[in-house]
Amino acid sequence: MTNQQVRLRMSEEKRFQKGYPLILQDYIERLPELQEGELFDLVGAQGTYYGTAYYGVQNKGIGWIVSKDPVTQLDRAYFMKLFKKAYQLRQDLHDDPNTNAYRIMNGEGDHFGGLTVDLYNDQLLLQWYSEGAYSFRRIIYDVLMEVVQPRSVYEKKRFDRGGEYIEQDDFVMGETTTFPQMVKQDGIQYAIDLNDGPMTGVFLDQREVRRYLRDELAEEKTVLNTFSYTGAFSVAALLGGAKSTTSVDLAKRSEAKTIEQMSINGIDFEAQEIRVMDVFNYFNYAERHQMKWDVVVLDPPSFARSKKMSFSTSKDYDMLIERAANVTARKGTIIASTNTASLDMKKFKKLIEEGMRKAGRNYKIVEEFHLPSDFRTPRSFREFDYLKVLILQLKN
Ligand code: SAH
Repeated sequence: MTNQQVRLRMSEEKRFQKGYPLILQDYIERLPELQEGELFDLVGAQGTYYGTAYYGVQNKGIGWIVSKDPVTQLDRAYFMKLFKKAYQLRQDLHDDPNTNAYRIMNGEGDHFGGLTVDLYNDQLLLQWYSEGAYSFRRIIYDVLMEVVQPRSVYEKKRFDRGGEYIEQDDFVMGETTTFPQMVKQDGIQYAIDLNDGPMTGVFLDQREVRRYLRDELAEEKTVLNTFSYTGAFSVAALLGGAKSTTSVDLAKRSEAKTIEQMSINGIDFEAQEIRVMDVFNYFNYAERHQMKWDVVVLDPPSFARSKKMSFSTSKDYDMLIERAANVTARKGTIIASTNTASLDMKKFKKLIEEGMRKAGRNYKIVEEFHLPSDFRTPRSFREFDYLKVLILQLKN
């Protein structure tokens, strides 16, 4: 059995010489007839072999390179080696008594794009990004049951049009459990539900930022947490000795979720402000009443819903910074976060500069966060490290 060959456009060969893992439709001359999950060999104009990839149409791209040596089948031995290696690389987290929720396999960073695997205490959550990746599921479940020995396995399919989550029963195998379950990161408790739509209750990739807020920033401070979801940043701040927190999120269920999150961490939620509200309306309200906070957290989705306006992180972050700066106390701090892959650090910093200039505030960047080590990314290509968080210390 041999793989079909897929020929790269000459202009695109360079990136694959350097080990780029993702194949976009635009990169190739002509796409042969391929089945989802089928392997093909990526070759240059002169026939140079660049690697073997699997075909899987996802939000961005049509496949991932999975091997630098010719292979015609991804079998049990292949995945066993891959998952064992990935699992061993997280030894520091397996050994950490304060953390039991983290990523044990991060797609292309662990040499198989289109799938991520997270450990939530003793339960696994797999997220599939293409039909092609999903075609390997039988072997992958089997291998993971052996390597990790989880109590149960859940999954999310994210390969509907535009990479949308497909509404389904997320349970795959093992013991059925009732949710919420408790997990922890750095000693902070989170109530999670692996079978309740696209989100689980906690974003595992913000671990280091929440720890920084708790350990380095929060003490005696007032904190405004915007786009707060389950209030994870508010909880981190309160555990770090914050004087008070205000959590603002548009989603109705965020209130109950925030109350739950605070309660399981021993926090009296009634002493905290929780607002179910559009962030931009809340900024209007706060400005009108001249309210100020010592620390403001900004963690918007790539596209924010809003009744009156549409907000796109990659276009409008300057406006968000300006609004935040207007309610930040003298010499306060803004935590500016984005997980928008298409917004690179350079452009992100430019938008921040612009927003601060409009607000008339001077600042310096005192800390910079990216994806934590369990969210491994291909070394030479920054674009896969989608998380960018800057700690902005205001000077006036
Ligand atoms: N910071 C959170 C994650 C944010 S997820 C954490 O650390 O867990 C993005 C959140 O933004 C969602 O909960 C969504 O309901 C909320 N959201 C989207 N548009 C909004 C708007 N205009 N105003 C307030 N919240 C909004």
